[in-house]
Amino acid sequence: MITAERKPMQEIIDYVSPFNRILLVGCNECVTVCAAGGRKEVGLLASALQMSFMQRGKALDIQEITLERQCDPEYVEQLVNYVDRYDAVLSMACGCGVQEVARRYKTKPVFPALNTKFMGASEHQGIWAERCQGCGDCVLGVTGGICPIARCSKRIMNGPCGGSTKGKCEINPDIECAWQLIWDRLKMLGLEDRYEEIMEAKDWRTSRDGGPRRIVREDLAS
Ligand code: SF4
Ligand code: SF4
Repeated sequence: MITAERKPMQEIIDYVSPFNRILLVGCNECVTVCAAGGRKEVGLLASALQMSFMQRGKALDIQEITLERQCDPEYVEQLVNYVDRYDAVLSMACGCGVQEVARRYKTKPVFPALNTKFMGASEHQGIWAERCQGCGDCVLGVTGGICPIARCSKRIMNGPCGGSTKGKCEINPDIECAWQLIWDRLKMLGLEDRYEEIMEAKDWRTSRDGGPRRIVREDLAS
């Protein structure tokens, strides 16, 4: 999933303080799962903003709405009956959702209430960790299902580096060395021969380094 965290309250207040009527829009997908921008967080932020405006003697008309997916035009269209009644939109989606709302409602100011972080997974209750950087040419099949791009601090494709110590990364001892994890797992699976193969230089053009990417499915495009 895409993970996110709420921005500092003061930054959000600075965005919306010039306005009196705010449409606050959450998203029911990834940001709900990582407890950043779902229905519950929309309610909490709306209350906090009401309180902040009240303390400054300002009236705030805030409408809460949570879409199924804010990165999907079909659901973004559901705002059409609301947008005109509000001065600005405050989005609690990831950056994709914020941009979709801004793309659809071109004349309306749209502000992000979240900082989008990374593609990750839940390690434990309340802890999410980065797992994928969307390189566009997945190597998990030869690295034992552990991503060296997202999980090795140096993105080394043939590791570990000389700084790996007792299974920990030299960049941050709280991080497990990805290449230690890769080796341990390949060994456990009896696939050590995969580790012996030197990976060729990766073609980063399939990643974000090659510029903004698109997927075009001719069979689905109309
Ligand atoms: S190899 Fe690429 S696609 Fe696969 S998990 Fe890592 S970053 Fe993501
Ligand atoms: S110690 Fe391991 S995870 Fe850290 S940079 Fe070196 S190879 Fe990568």
